[in-house]
Amino acid sequence: MSMECGHCGSEVKDGFKVCSGCGAHYRSNMKIFVGGILLLFLGIITVPDHLIAGLVILGVAGLCVYQGGSRKWYRHNA
Ligand SMILES: [Zn+2]
Repeated sequence: MSMECGHCGSEVKDGFKVCSGCGAHYRSNMKIFVGGILLLFLGIITVPDHLIAGLVILGVAGLCVYQGGSRKWYRHNA
């Protein structure tokens, strides 16, 4: 089984995380993921005092964890 590079459409062999055509990396974004985890804690400590703001932060945190944790094609080492 193989997959297509999300940037140039080249075929990338299974097990390879780097496109041989354009050099894009298939990976999760740890910076966004870790940022989401930190926001999660911030939201948890904010909720008791500021419910709405805390819930908004928790929503953003969940989005960051989800987006950062899912693997995508990155052209540059972001
Ligand atoms: Zn490519």
